[in-house]
Amino acid sequence: MIYVDNAATTKLDSKAFEKMKPFLLEEYGNASQPYSFSRNARKVLKEARRTIANCINAEEEEIYFTSGGTESNNWAIKCFDVNCRNNQIITSKIEHHSVLNTCKVATENLKFLNPDSNGVINPTELKELFEDNKNQKAKLENILVSVMLANNEIGTIQPIKELAELAHSYGACFHTDAVQAVGHIKIDVKELNVDMLSASAHKFNGPKGVGFLYIKKGTSLSQLIIGGSQEKGMRAGTQNVSAIVGMAVALKENCENIDANSKHITEVENAFIDKITENKLDFIRNGYINHLPGNVNISIRNGNGEMLLHRLDLMGICVSTGSACDNVNNQVSHVIKAIGVPSDYAEGTIRISFGKENTVEEAIFIADSIMKIV
Ligand code: PLP
Repeated sequence: MIYVDNAATTKLDSKAFEKMKPFLLEEYGNASQPYSFSRNARKVLKEARRTIANCINAEEEEIYFTSGGTESNNWAIKCFDVNCRNNQIITSKIEHHSVLNTCKVATENLKFLNPDSNGVINPTELKELFEDNKNQKAKLENILVSVMLANNEIGTIQPIKELAELAHSYGACFHTDAVQAVGHIKIDVKELNVDMLSASAHKFNGPKGVGFLYIKKGTSLSQLIIGGSQEKGMRAGTQNVSAIVGMAVALKENCENIDANSKHITEVENAFIDKITENKLDFIRNGYINHLPGNVNISIRNGNGEMLLHRLDLMGICVSTGSACDNVNNQVSHVIKAIGVPSDYAEGTIRISFGKENTVEEAIFIADSIMKIV
């Protein structure tokens, strides 16, 4: 089996797994209990928070553990400035469904930023929206802007620093869904100047069902889950100690090797692109200007992404047609529509997301397999 769907999920890091085991089997104490049996669980939770904070240059108190990217996005969007219901949210047309659908529920006052044909959001468009709001005397400090750091389908990295600076210059709050980016490109929340950032462990070789939300001190966000005092009462519920420990180990491991991993993955990616180009496949590469290493999204002329996925599956290769949600609906994804891929190419879209474990030989084998099918 050749697994090249690392944007969907990644293999658990073996060091992370080793560190997780004792907290499932032996040291299973509830981290909130005061007795000595739970002392180590409490200690490792604190250490994990510190490790994660260091990886993104945040403060320890600004990291809140969640069940993953979807929950973090829900929290940031639904619980922002709740005293002011139906506040305006500005987001982009190419967000993950956990942002798009949450925004639709959170407000009726939703505005969209359009990507260009490369999948990049232009800060000028955001400025124009704020100027419109200003002219209509809207309360700018109640506006939430949520734009993803890197796109899950086409891998484009957005100009988050510029967008966040712009939002702040009008007094608004800025959230970024960094689920695809954390552990894969360097992230410094202070430099990016974001107020909230979502991450998910299973995208960076951590376990599934765990993630975090970075909440900058002073951000107007209310509690997500009501109950006990875990996560400072903001997200109640017994913490999943082993998963959190695994997440911290996996993130540290990825962050320490970010340059080497990125170099290797880019070599693999280039080998694939060179091979299909050399073989004269008629394709468009989507969103490759300033993209995540390893994310290759191509639209093949007169192709059928769904058919390709299943034929490759029969050959033992796991790829995707886009995001998991659109796979179920079996239609051209909202991202491919938003960047305006021509209709004779759009249906032939597949996403190959190489990871650190893939090799150049695998990339060439996949390219040859696609050529055979097409
Ligand atoms: N945001 C983006 C950009 C994603 O790619 C994903 C997962 O595919 C999510 C959010 C949801 O993360 P999780 O699977 O941890 O809920």
